[in-house]
Amino acid sequence: MPVYRPPHVIALVAAVLVVLAATATASTAVGGDSNGSSQMAAAAGIVRGPDGALLPVVGTFAGSQVVSSTCGQEVVYEGGIPLEGPIDVVLDPGHGGPESGSVGSNGLVERDVNLLVALQVETALEEMGHSVVLTRRRDLHMPIRQRANIVRALQPRAFVSIHHNGGAVRRSDTPGTETFHQVDDAESRRLAGLLFEEVYAAFADYWVPWVRTYHQGASARLRPPRTDTYGVLRLTRGTPAAIVEALYLSNPPEAQLIAIPEVQQVEGHAIAAAIDRFLNSDDPGSGFKDPFYDPHTTGTGTARGCVDQKYSEPTNIRTGFTAEEFASLTAAANHMGRSVDWLLKFGVYTLKFLGELPGAAPITPLEAEQRPDAYGPIAVTVEWDQAEQAVLVRMAEAYGLNRTETQKLGATLLVFLANLPAEITVPSDGPD
Ligand SMILES: [Zn+2]
Repeated sequence: MPVYRPPHVIALVAAVLVVLAATATASTAVGGDSNGSSQMAAAAGIVRGPDGALLPVVGTFAGSQVVSSTCGQEVVYEGGIPLEGPIDVVLDPGHGGPESGSVGSNGLVERDVNLLVALQVETALEEMGHSVVLTRRRDLHMPIRQRANIVRALQPRAFVSIHHNGGAVRRSDTPGTETFHQVDDAESRRLAGLLFEEVYAAFADYWVPWVRTYHQGASARLRPPRTDTYGVLRLTRGTPAAIVEALYLSNPPEAQLIAIPEVQQVEGHAIAAAIDRFLNSDDPGSGFKDPFYDPHTTGTGTARGCVDQKYSEPTNIRTGFTAEEFASLTAAANHMGRSVDWLLKFGVYTLKFLGELPGAAPITPLEAEQRPDAYGPIAVTVEWDQAEQAVLVRMAEAYGLNRTETQKLGATLLVFLANLPAEITVPSDGPD
């Protein structure tokens, strides 16, 4: 196997492997940042995407804007209209796309009712003079993580996730309205209490065979040690947030009731009144119940199966190699049973992987003399889709390189790693 290993390549790889060494020592001391890159920092702003979707800006890396897509993944997206703040209220119509939520016997689907009611809340709040945005304005698959990303980017004064319940069967003379707040957060609790007060009162005017559970009222649902079970509350701490479950869509009479547009408007006005009182008064709310432990969720709200629309065209990045380098590259690719362009892409992902290991030292830009020469006579072209581009430009920014050089750096690292076993002297009489 030809191994091309001039001194400057060794130096280059050594610079990258400093990250590894730092990782190995640091990770024994601390558990590391548990939620690393998936936790987006606030304050880079938010733009409206091609179809009006809200896309929090993660940052600009190597000259390219990276946003959090509706599926909650980082993608390169150069367009978008910046949203002017400040925003008073973010409303979240729960579920969407393949995640229907609860379903009524009349065929009414929770994801659709949630959106219809949210649009009523928006209209009412705007008439009261509040600025409002919705996490989604159409039927859209959006994981919880992205809904929280939007809230963290906008930092509104209140965040309300709108749902309609399923499951209960115990008959009740009163609406089974439930609201949930962030545990040990007085303002979130007050918001949930006001939402319960207004929504419960609005539906108490109707007589239907209601159902309820013990959790009728305003409470916090927890998982050990003492954390909010609902991601939409857990991931938005710092913003007063609440979930409202006005009634039981799974109960046929209640499904019939909420199918009526005027009733959707009544609910919308009740939620808007509660939010307005939250913003403009010190009213305490009511219906409070003690926090309770129930870690189980429906398992929905993840990014699984979520397909983003196209925000950016794929882009081709060319990297040049000398004949010797290309021979090493081909050998390494053959060794791994992969193509050469796969190896180039995987190399960049390996750079990212090393940088994100728990306790990894921050990546620092390479010195000028360490920059890879990426302009040899044998060119390899690699196509990067919008999500892959986000990885490429993040690594380019971190190492202070352009995209062509970053591709070369990743390839150099992988060739080095692929050849490592040949460098290690294994005693021939060792244990088998
Ligand atoms: Zn729901």
